[in-house]
Amino acid sequence: MKLAARSRARRSVLGHDCGKFAITGGRLVAVIPPMCHVCGLDLWAVSGPVDEHFVLVHFGGDAPVPEGWVGHPPNAVWFCREHASVALERAAMPYQAALAEIDAVVGRSVS
Ligand SMILES: [Zn+2]
Repeated sequence: MKLAARSRARRSVLGHDCGKFAITGGRLVAVIPPMCHVCGLDLWAVSGPVDEHFVLVHFGGDAPVPEGWVGHPPNAVWFCREHASVALERAAMPYQAALAEIDAVVGRSVS
């Protein structure tokens, strides 16, 4: 990826409002950059706006965000556009159960 494309991608992430980035007391906290849970596609392999390539899926259930939480929500996981549908179909599930089921569906083994 050319430097200009990377720079555009970074700006796109910083301008994306999904809770990945927060500035608290002048500090940048808790950053999880886009990387598909299934295939590992990451920000550096693509160019253009993040939303064109990735979806941040917020799973329900077992990990409520504590009051005053800043940064990446514990139940939010990145997926590329190709794998987003398998995740969105399970968005109402607790995230650990959803990820286990997604792994089984796509044949991804986790050790
Ligand atoms: Zn993917």
